Amino acid sequence: MGNLDRDFFVASFRRMAEAAEANRDDWTKLDGEIGDGDHGINMSIGFRAVVKQLDELPDDTDVAGTFKLVGMTLLRRVGGASGPLYGSFFMKAGAEVAGQQEVSFEDLPRMLRAGVDSIQQRGKAELGDKTMLDSYLPGLEVLEAADTQDSVAAFTAFVERMKQGSDDTIPLIAKKGRAMRLGERSVGHRDPGSQSSWMLMDCFLEELKARA
Ligand code: ADP
Ligand code: MG
Repeated sequence: MGNLDRDFFVASFRRMAEAAEANRDDWTKLDGEIGDGDHGINMSIGFRAVVKQLDELPDDTDVAGTFKLVGMTLLRRVGGASGPLYGSFFMKAGAEVAGQQEVSFEDLPRMLRAGVDSIQQRGKAELGDKTMLDSYLPGLEVLEAADTQDSVAAFTAFVERMKQGSDDTIPLIAKKGRAMRLGERSVGHRDPGSQSSWMLMDCFLEELKARA
């Protein structure tokens, strides 16, 4: 896979906005079971604001600048725990390639790792706490071990592992976030952030496929 230009990322973020709209009710329903029922609403508000920013994106904004704008917009506009977490995820991912004229698929694992590190630093959650990290962390291990020559295959394995990680949150007891208050009653429900996170990453995959 050659370079991932700014337009690749802009198109991916637009796909994310569409996914947030299409899955708004599902994510909200999941959050209604073990949280306060606003996850889909939060995400759709945030990504609507992102689309507005992308519509007015100055021509000279590079990849890092685009990520920064998306991250800051989510940080400002998305309520709840997920706003700051997703916001810093995208800001830190973009900062990894600051000043780089070109970004390639080989840069993506490093960018996403930096983003996930910041989710961990902010949220202090660990693997098994029934959060979005339960999809990101095992997914990233797969991506980092994958052969980056075939970007679609590598990213497919990443997204599939994230999806599995989300499935694996169902039997867990929540240790972080609002769901924590439910204790054992959180068992049997999927963590909403683990679902939205693999679905957002799936948008990069769809854009990779569209360009393959
Ligand atoms: P809130 O919980 O404030 O209502 P959302 O409903 O938008 O925010 O997002 C909830 C999601 O945020 C959870 O499903 C979980 O995946 C994620 N989350 C919450 N707290 C943490 C944390 N400390 N670390 C990582 N992810 C978290
Ligand atoms: Mg909520």
